[in-house]
Amino acid sequence: MFATRFAPSPTGYLHLGHAFSAWTAFDAAQSEQGRFILRIEDTDLTRCRPEFEAAIYEDLAWLGLTWESPVRRQSDHMADYEAALERLKALGLLYRCFKTRKELMEAIASAPHSFSGPEPVAPLPPSDEADQLATGKAYAWRLSLARSAAVIGADWDRLGFEANGQWVKADPGQLGDIVLARKEFPSSYHLASVLDDASQGITHVIRGEDLAEAAHIHVVLQKLLGLPTPIYRHHRLILDADGKRFAKRNQSVTLRSLRESGTSPALIRTSLGL
Ligand code: GLU
Repeated sequence: MFATRFAPSPTGYLHLGHAFSAWTAFDAAQSEQGRFILRIEDTDLTRCRPEFEAAIYEDLAWLGLTWESPVRRQSDHMADYEAALERLKALGLLYRCFKTRKELMEAIASAPHSFSGPEPVAPLPPSDEADQLATGKAYAWRLSLARSAAVIGADWDRLGFEANGQWVKADPGQLGDIVLARKEFPSSYHLASVLDDASQGITHVIRGEDLAEAAHIHVVLQKLLGLPTPIYRHHRLILDADGKRFAKRNQSVTLRSLRESGTSPALIRTSLGL
């Protein structure tokens, strides 16, 4: 059965971009007589807040959406993500990366060519790794694409997915060795999202085209973890008058401020071209 989801992170109030995304997924589920699932992606405990989660339910209900309950909150399932992380570690696919964001930025800035590719990271030789560990420095667990390719073998070149009705060959190299977890934090968006899409039986992932790149790495994770690959639909992004994406900090276009200003959901739908 067709099943899709809207998976916001409660790090701010929902805005017009979220409304477009949620409606796009909801409308697809309605027209396929399928399931519409709301999932709260709150693994980043430092940025997520309960009042934003409460606002998500309130704002989506105001838009007229209905969803299945209970709602899955990722923070309730950290042990599942950690177990998957351990499986990948046991396969030798993860390595510790001690580079800070600042160091990565500096490496990119000093590269001979203007750099727009994956971050310049690589596993350390074991003795260097031991030295770094001994300092107690923070680190991230990164997924090695080279080792993933070796484990997946001949199927590596056949990895791909359907997006917007077309077959796309996976090109995970464009994202490089992504961060799957941090020293004291067992999950990242990529791992939790892939695991939950599978455990919730999501057949169609419908989300903004800003996440189109992520699908290239999600198929790798699905293959490694023995999970099915859903069909992807990446929709256009809703931009502000300056052609920029709405940011959660931009208060004027939050659904609650629109509601307070007397706008109706029907008017918002029309203005979004739905
Ligand atoms: N939680 C993500 C966000 O709020 C959405 C991820 C997804 O749809 O896969 O941007």
